[in-house]
Amino acid sequence: MTDLSPTKRLMCEHCGYPQITCLCPWVKPIDAPINIVILQHPTEAKHAKNTVRLLALGLNNVRALQGETAADFTELTKSVARSAHQYNTNPS
Ligand SMILES: [Zn+2]
Repeated sequence: MTDLSPTKRLMCEHCGYPQITCLCPWVKPIDAPINIVILQHPTEAKHAKNTVRLLALGLNNVRALQGETAADFTELTKSVARSAHQYNTNPS
């Protein structure tokens, strides 16, 4: 299925790039060894060369949150604070 951008180009619904430059046949997503959360400015999210979108195509465990101020990421801050993860920086 296709979608039209504001410029009326046919866009791939999966990768979000124009169908003429669709990356889907060449991208085989892999699992990153960690979960990745990217804080992205809304202007960047609309950029045609959106590298976060490209990264999310290649890695399964990437989540992009859009916002401009710390207040926009309050839920992430709370989630990190509630996290049960503990990091050992002194292995022995
Ligand atoms: Zn595509």
